[in-house]
Formats: sequence, structure tokens, C-alpha cells
Amino acid sequence: MKDLKEKLNNLHSKKFVYLTSDIEWATEEQISFFRSYIVSNNLKCTIFITHYSNETKKMIEDPAHFEIGIHPNFMKGSSHGTSLKQVIDFFEPVLEIAKGARSHGLLNHTSYYNYLCENTNLSYEISTYMPRLEIIQPCKFEYREKVIYKIPFNWEDDMEFTVMEPIWNIKKLASKITGENLILNFHPIHLFYNNSSQEKYLISKNIDNKLKPLKKELLKNQKGAFTMLRSIAESNYNCKFISELLIK
Ligand SMILES: [Zn+2]
Repeated sequence: MKDLKEKLNNLHSKKFVYLTSDIEWATEEQISFFRSYIVSNNLKCTIFITHYSNETKKMIEDPAHFEIGIHPNFMKGSSHGTSLKQVIDFFEPVLEIAKGARSHGLLNHTSYYNYLCENTNLSYEISTYMPRLEIIQPCKFEYREKVIYKIPFNWEDDMEFTVMEPIWNIKKLASKITGENLILNFHPIHLFYNNSSQEKYLISKNIDNKLKPLKKELLKNQKGAFTMLRSIAESNYNCKFISELLIK
């Protein structure tokens, strides 16, 4: 029994956890909650920004805890613009320091990859969601003399909302995935309300200010997105930035 426990512990210590977050136009209060939690627990998180604000600025200026990525929105009515160029240009102020991209709604098209290669120095694109994928292997996407790595990710908070057996604990997730890399994606609003279902999300989205503290407490009493993040903070897994996956 002791041997088995030791073996399991060794197995866990060989796993690497990569936290990511699509900021998703969250409120300053929600971003502040998420940012403070990452900083106070000395975690590392790769964030994909959607807008500029005081809170996103604080993360941009804290490279010890946050790696910067962009979250371009190519959907109809996007506040980032209507053309590929306009949307990517929106991120001009951070393109120098940004390491990667994940598109809003995970929209993918080859001209987008070509454009990133030709016009930015981003090292990776991480819009391919592959739930519980065993082996995460970056894939080299070449465009003329430029290269960008496509990286899949294997867990996302709101994708757990609809599966039959959602996982809200990092050790449980690690036990289901034999590969060493666990790449998780969180949204500040789901962390703030510890959301665990679409229904709860809609409630939290529409909570009026008077009801907010009460609902917040109710929603905190269940397992959800924040439960997963807390289990990571309380575990002894190595936490890394996405760009570290590309270092051989
Ligand atoms: Zn998004």
C-alpha cells in the first residue's frame, strides 16, 4: 500500500500544470479576484487579453506571475475590428511582449495562422481544445521563413459544464491523463462565482448588485471552476507558462 502511494506521488510530481485564462472582457472586480489569487499563491498563468484596463495593466506589468497572450475576436460585431488586420492591430500595444494567441470562440482558419507568422513574433497559437488529450505535443506550423507552434489544451472550465462527469480537482484530472502536461483554461467570471454549469453562469451574469453578495456566497458552496484552481494552489505540481512548453 505504501509502495503504491509512493508510486502515485512520483507519478504526480512528473506532471506539469499550465494555467491559462481568457480574460473575456470580465469586470475589474472579477479580474482583480483572479489576479490576486494567482499572485498570493505564487502561481504562474498565461493570460489572453481582450481589452485594456487597470487590472489587465497590472498583469501585463507582472511577468513573474503572468505571461501575456492575445485573445482576438473574429466574430460578427467584434469590438476588435472587422478584418484580420484590424483585429490583430487592436493588440499592437502588447504585441511586442505577447508570446501567443488564442482566438475567441476558438475560431481557426489558415489565413489567421499565416497572418500571425507574417506580421507578429508570437511563438504559439493555442485555440485547439482537445478534452482530456493524453499527450500534448506542439506542432510546427510553417509559413515561408516564419514558424508558429500550434498547441492543443486539454481542460477548460466551461467545457466541464456539459460533460457527464465534470472534474473539478487537479489530482483527479491527472489520474485520467497519462501524459505529463495538463493545460487548463479558466475564465475570470467562472472563477469569481465558482460556476459549474451554464445555468449558474447565466445567473451569475445577471446578478444585480444588491443580490450579488448573497448569490456569490451560495455559488461558492459548490464545486466549480474555482474549486479546480484552489486544488492546484494546494497541490505540489510544477506550474509553468505556455512558452516553457516550447523550451527543449
Ligand atoms: Zn473567448
